[in-house]
Amino acid sequence: MAPGRLESPITTLPDSSQTTTAPRESHFINLALTKTLPIPISGKGIELYLSDGRTIIDGCGGAAVSIIGHGNEEVALQTHKQGLQLAYAHPGAYTTTPAGELCQFLLDGNPHGFEKVFLCSSGSEATETTMKLAKQCAFEKGEPERMHYVSRWQAYHGSTMGAMSMSTNLARKEGFEGLGYPHVSHVSPPYAYQYQKSDETEDQYATRLIQELDDEFKRVGTQKVLMFTAETVGGATAGCITPPTGYFRGVRKLCDKYGILLHLDEVMCGVGRTGTFYAFEQEGIVPDIVTIGKGFGGGYAQIAAVLIHKKVVDVFRKNSKPFNHGHTYESHATACRAALAVQKIVRRDHLIERSAAMGKVLDAELRSQLAPCKSVGDIRGRGTFMAVEFVKCKDTKESFPPELRYGIQVQRFIHDLGVDVYPGAGTVDGIRGDHILIAPPYTVTEEQVRHICSVVRQAVLEMEAVYM
Ligand code: PLP
Repeated sequence: MAPGRLESPITTLPDSSQTTTAPRESHFINLALTKTLPIPISGKGIELYLSDGRTIIDGCGGAAVSIIGHGNEEVALQTHKQGLQLAYAHPGAYTTTPAGELCQFLLDGNPHGFEKVFLCSSGSEATETTMKLAKQCAFEKGEPERMHYVSRWQAYHGSTMGAMSMSTNLARKEGFEGLGYPHVSHVSPPYAYQYQKSDETEDQYATRLIQELDDEFKRVGTQKVLMFTAETVGGATAGCITPPTGYFRGVRKLCDKYGILLHLDEVMCGVGRTGTFYAFEQEGIVPDIVTIGKGFGGGYAQIAAVLIHKKVVDVFRKNSKPFNHGHTYESHATACRAALAVQKIVRRDHLIERSAAMGKVLDAELRSQLAPCKSVGDIRGRGTFMAVEFVKCKDTKESFPPELRYGIQVQRFIHDLGVDVYPGAGTVDGIRGDHILIAPPYTVTEEQVRHICSVVRQAVLEMEAVYM
């Protein structure tokens, strides 16, 4: 055993977690009081073992979080060791070794020009941080009139007030209409399946979307817009929508023209999910700010990061003002150690390349296995980040009535058959966009991919027998 390593791996759970064997009423205040949730007692690889004896194949890594699978002993040991050594030191007064190493890991040999990292605990915090960073940057530049953010329809950037204002996942905003930051407006996302016109080329579609963004910047006032925020590959709300070629190059050009910051939210699609560490690497552009989360800690730590380009950092440097923002648990030592351990495994085991390769298998399997399904309108995505959109009629692309909650029903059916996928609906303009998202850990095998797809097929065919 290497010096400093623990004598015995922590693979056994404390007794208390083993004693509950039946689903219990949820303790979460945001779920209906009557709702019961299954209890995963442990997990290994892409399998979750529930208290009722069932095994679930994790076909979506939770919410595209678990990138190296469950129960990784290396990560558990590293985290345990860090906890024994130092779990916490106040981030206003100290920088811990794991936080430093993690930032170094992100910035080392970095070809994109990011110079600083803000480590926080969730994707929502990362969005809030980015919004405030953009505002202070404009202020330091002597542009205090920049107060407005533009984001896109069918997007999710988090559940806190600022992040919710940037988000357009209508279901998540229900009951909170009118709350949040007031100076936010939205433009169309690149959602070719539902919105690209039949007589429009990909190039023309990209041009139309960029023109809409230009029009929105002008409507608000190009001197008043702070930042444009977009998911590089749209995740949960619209279901793995990929941009048409040239879209982000056009967006970048427009932001540069007007001095508007470009923030790409890669909380869901980043850290190798689409086959490259950042999804924007496939777009030929670099944002001013990129946010990552989910796969960054791989489910082993609650951690997210805001990476800030030199262009923005220089504004702060020039004006010698620190960023006026912080959280008690930012750059938490054990969270950073866990994330670093996850990322080192990803690098050592070439898991991003594996995400790209398994993504090809997943794409091909979904297409062949779902070919007979009448309700499967579109299969799209990149890497191990794939969505299946359901429609009532393939010719018209008409969606199922929203009250049917077709996508959610399919997801529940799949769960009953022992596989987890992630449900979603991109409600806007009366188009529901029912879909499921499939995003397994990058460690998934070809056989497991085939199994996930065959279960999806079985569930969809059975749903169709009832509803079509
Ligand atoms: N941004 C995107 C693109 C997301 O998908 C999410 C969560 O689903 C968030 C931000 C918010 O992250 P969190 O749930 O960690 O606050």
